[in-house]
Amino acid sequence: MSRIRFNALQETLHRSPVKVIQNEKRSTLFGQHVFNKHAMQQYLTRAAYESVMNAIEHGTKIDRKIADQVAVSMKDWAMSKGATHYTHWFQPLTGATAEKHDAFFESINGSLAMEKFDGEQLVQQQPDASSFPHGGIRNTFEARGYTAWDPTSPAFIFETTLCIPTIFVAYTGEALDNKTPLLRSLQAIDTHATAVCKYFDKNANKVSATLGLEQEFFLIDDALALSRPDLLLTGRTLLGHTFAKGQQLDDHYFGTIPARAMSFMQDLEQECMLLGIPVKTRHNEVAPNQFEVAPIFEEANLAVDHNSLLMDVMQKVSRRHKFKVLFHEKPFKDINGSAKHNNWSLSLDDKTNLLSPGKTPMKNLQFLTFFINTIKAVYNYEELLRSSIASASNEYRLGANEAPPPIISIFIGSQLSAVLDELENVTKGKLSPQEKTDLKLNIIGKIPEILLDNTDTNRTSPFAFTGNKFEFRAVGSSANCAIPMTVLNTIVAKQLKEFKIEVDALVDEKGLKKDEAVFNILREYIKDSKNIRFEGDSYGESWEKEAKKRGLSNNKTTPDALKVKIVDNTVSLFEEMEVMSKVELEARYEIDLETYTKKIQIEARVLADIARNQVVPTAIIYQNTLLENTKNLKEIFGGEYKNIAKEQIELIMVISNHITQINALVIKMESEKDKANKQIGLKLAALYSSKVKPYLVDIRYHCDQLETMVDDNLWPLTKYRELLFTK
Ligand code: ADP
Ligand code: MG
Repeated sequence: MSRIRFNALQETLHRSPVKVIQNEKRSTLFGQHVFNKHAMQQYLTRAAYESVMNAIEHGTKIDRKIADQVAVSMKDWAMSKGATHYTHWFQPLTGATAEKHDAFFESINGSLAMEKFDGEQLVQQQPDASSFPHGGIRNTFEARGYTAWDPTSPAFIFETTLCIPTIFVAYTGEALDNKTPLLRSLQAIDTHATAVCKYFDKNANKVSATLGLEQEFFLIDDALALSRPDLLLTGRTLLGHTFAKGQQLDDHYFGTIPARAMSFMQDLEQECMLLGIPVKTRHNEVAPNQFEVAPIFEEANLAVDHNSLLMDVMQKVSRRHKFKVLFHEKPFKDINGSAKHNNWSLSLDDKTNLLSPGKTPMKNLQFLTFFINTIKAVYNYEELLRSSIASASNEYRLGANEAPPPIISIFIGSQLSAVLDELENVTKGKLSPQEKTDLKLNIIGKIPEILLDNTDTNRTSPFAFTGNKFEFRAVGSSANCAIPMTVLNTIVAKQLKEFKIEVDALVDEKGLKKDEAVFNILREYIKDSKNIRFEGDSYGESWEKEAKKRGLSNNKTTPDALKVKIVDNTVSLFEEMEVMSKVELEARYEIDLETYTKKIQIEARVLADIARNQVVPTAIIYQNTLLENTKNLKEIFGGEYKNIAKEQIELIMVISNHITQINALVIKMESEKDKANKQIGLKLAALYSSKVKPYLVDIRYHCDQLETMVDDNLWPLTKYRELLFTK
């Protein structure tokens, strides 16, 4: 075994779990490091508290004097918990989180010092953030971006820093982050969903989106990860032969969590509790060393912040436990990839789940309204929804036999399908009293029962109704969920707006009763959107053919998937819903393409380096051993040697062939890269996708073949079986 590999394995094998002290109940820890309602009540004046609550609930502005008060209280609270610094915490278009820490400490006249934090520092900051991607919106020389406090997501303390969730916008008003469009989409859904709710409940006041995220990830020992330049630089293995024992036995899934991983989880959960992230579930996933953590669902903006924070915390906690967390969607070939399921629903006045049936026929009609409108929205904008989950890393996972294909479809189960089929037969126009009674008793009235024992599941569906929410499963594990959630909220908001216009027209112009009008429009939507509903196996090839017939998009590559982000129909949707302007959309499109290109570019460089500097030289060393051996055999056995050294001679030839191929392929890949680099934007990304990326597969093939032939003692890279089975 090579020295690097040997040392890494030795280090790993001698590790024991880090002891995590757990002497307090989870519920006692919960939210201790969050400036939540409870802390605000303790620290704020009544006027300040009410002003902040108003801002959270109704989006009202907080005036400057009050902001000063809030800042001072927040600082006092944070210092009482040991914080020394503060930061505006934001989510730039890199998809990660960003923070720049400033101390509360200020000196006065160079000799005295005090701790200071005022309203201005709380409300607005100008980070020197000129290096964040902005897709041309913000010329570094003209306008700078600023961060602004988002009171709807509470401030928290991480380590010794008070973190204030903020939006990040240009002085000209354009959003430079993922949070701003998400907040605007939540506003849009509130406006249009509340208006529809008023059909069923005059007192309907506010609709918010709820989101429960299931985060999958791999845990790899950090000494082993350090020995793999590909894992370090690209987050996935660019080569590595699939080993004899993979996940065939499914023995990892829901198995006992290994001791070291368990200790990491305990530590993580404790940190999450302090930060008010309601982590509830943890379990092993299908692949070896793959796990999942899932917090309880929350208001969508908070859930997205909490997921970004969770990913940060996981990285930090993993260091204490000598692990590296892999969020990449497909870190290992032939091993299941990682997703981040987005469980999404709508909640009326924090009381009623609109995707859950109620006790009265009216409530059940309300459920059907939101259920069917969501299906229709996804049908209308399936390609846009697909684009929201497009990335270089998710491209490796989608359609890889363990994840949904890049075709968006909806699974609702046989019983709800039957309900929709029956509703399709509702009479056009006015309904007879008999028909109304029938509908109420036999169709609408039965929904709660149906859902109670709705046990249908279909793990292959990218977008499934799971009893009281939709689960968007095509989202990748490394994604910032603000992006897909912004699209989902926006398309549903737009759909609800259309719905209301159509229902009102039937009431005003045709004299239909409200419930009759609702039935009439829903009936048409069910018919229109049938093509998006699919109950079968989404993994199979037959679905691909069927989907094509149905006219559904099937954009396999990221550049293809992204195109729809800037077409007229998308621009008018986002502008009408006041979620993003054309400039903001184009900027994101540009950044997405650039990110894609860079990711493939880095992978190509890293693989070329590993192939040339590690794989080929190792293969040559082994080949020399074989040559030496053959020479010696010849010396002893003379002409007979050809029979005796048959295997060696063959192996020498085979190795030669792989070495030649690797060298030739690397040269070809580099020339394709050079050609591509003359282009920009979509063309550049498309060339990287079609011309450069295939070489990653071809080069890998030869490297992996060599891995199976070369003496294990010489092989420099930690192997799959070691990465995945060393506990
Ligand atoms: P599973 O899918 O594993 O059977 P559940 O159906 O209980 O488990 O929930 C899966 C995820 O859905 C959890 O993260 C949960 O918080 C989330 N969830 C449950 N109800 C809602 C809701 N109304 N809105 C959004 N997410 C929800
Ligand atoms: Mg799930």
